[in-house]
Amino acid sequence: MKEKRKYMEGLVQEECLIFERSRDGKRAFSLPKSDVPRKEPSQILPNEMLRDEIKDFPEVSEVDVVRHFTRLSTWNYGVDTGFYPLGSCTMKYNPKVNENLSRLPGFALAHPYQGDKLSQGALRMMYELAKFLAEIGGMAGVTLAPAAGAHGELTGTAVIRAYHTKNGNPRTKIIVPDSAHGTNPATTSTCGYTPIEVKSNEHGCTDAYAVAEVMTDDVAGIMITNPNTLGIFEENIAEIAKIVHAKGGLVYCDGANLNAVMGVARFGDMGVDVMHYNLHKTFSTPHGGGGPGAGPVGVASKLTPFLPIPTIEKGPDGYYLNEDRPDSIGRVISFYGNFGVMLKAYCWIRSMGPEGIRAASENAVLSANYIRASLRKHFDVPYDRLCKHECVFSDAKQSAHGVTTMDIAKRLMDYGMHPPTNYFPLIVHHAIMVEPTESEDKAAIDRYIEAMIAIAEEAASDPDLVKGAPTKTKLSRLDEVQAARNPILNWKKEE
Ligand SMILES: *Cc1c(COP(=O)(O)O)cnc(C)c1O
Repeated sequence: MKEKRKYMEGLVQEECLIFERSRDGKRAFSLPKSDVPRKEPSQILPNEMLRDEIKDFPEVSEVDVVRHFTRLSTWNYGVDTGFYPLGSCTMKYNPKVNENLSRLPGFALAHPYQGDKLSQGALRMMYELAKFLAEIGGMAGVTLAPAAGAHGELTGTAVIRAYHTKNGNPRTKIIVPDSAHGTNPATTSTCGYTPIEVKSNEHGCTDAYAVAEVMTDDVAGIMITNPNTLGIFEENIAEIAKIVHAKGGLVYCDGANLNAVMGVARFGDMGVDVMHYNLHKTFSTPHGGGGPGAGPVGVASKLTPFLPIPTIEKGPDGYYLNEDRPDSIGRVISFYGNFGVMLKAYCWIRSMGPEGIRAASENAVLSANYIRASLRKHFDVPYDRLCKHECVFSDAKQSAHGVTTMDIAKRLMDYGMHPPTNYFPLIVHHAIMVEPTESEDKAAIDRYIEAMIAIAEEAASDPDLVKGAPTKTKLSRLDEVQAARNPILNWKKEE
């Protein structure tokens, strides 16, 4: 080791790699001396069940392990530690009671093979959740199976393909506006369709004429994100739906941003045929950290026969999983999806009620507009109009002083806040995308606004300060390009 790292510096805890703590012979347990003859593992177990020695496996005590991981956990920034305004992600605070309910033993210990008869409570919950989501989206049927938003898109687009195929021709293209989420064109390609891009107009909306120009008999439909990645409601959606339907196409609406409209407006009423919901954004499952999610898909009545199997249905003998569906696109996940995530969504919807759900949307939208209006004098707002749950700025004013979106984001860390989404959406040059959500109170939002104004002032008076940020974090600015291109994933003992 060249230089030994400090374990502590005041009460700001540093942490070395667990490998660096290793001392030969240290163990996390101690057992009494054995009173039976010792046998080697190879004398007891077949050879193929034995693993090789793990080279350089750290030898540490129990307290070493506990302190190591506990310290590392305090380095994490999460919604439980502070404001997390990551646009397009809905990083809201979710009530812990829903976590507790989803871990009740009757649910947590249920086994997918225990059969319908012993799963009536679980099936009823899923049946009712699908109904609630259908009601919120204005859809005829909902599958809970997909495990994420992008997985929902794949499922929904497969449904579109199955519908057109059944009608004699799957068609070859899908229209995707430039304000759609990046997963939309990726999904259309994955499903064998060629995405056709249409440009947004000067109001940040998809233009109905632009859609009409490219909508032909060979276009399977349109995939539109609403509210779009500018945080703006696609106000021409009903008209666009008419244009697409007139040529036999279908309308897919990416509803990952439902936090802006639920309880207020329903996609089904706007002519949308397929949509997905992100339970891990809107419906009480924390987003990020790689945990399980769920991306249920809602469809109009003409598409329900194509939904994946199994569907959850109610018959004279109770609730059951139905696999006997000849037009279904088939299975998209093992069993029926991420049950714990569904349960949290169910609890959240039941505890919020229709008024609470509407209030959540309204507060999310109010907060975003409050931020936009408070910062518009200090930051460029490319589409300065009423937004939905998020607002988009750029660094156009600060770049005159050489300060970029990246610098602003880094400087926010010195003010103790997670940066917003950067450089997305792509249609705004050097975008700064802020989504406060409904779970922050006015004081927290005011602190954010004050920090942003302070940074705008620093950018003009002392640009080097902003460009040198962060200075109050454990490490200052890292080389993110190198970290992405040449990550060091393996620790090797230095000679
Ligand atoms: C987050 C998001 C997605 C993707 O959802 P995942 O669960 O991450 O796959 C798709 N579309 C929009 C608009 C989103 O915000």
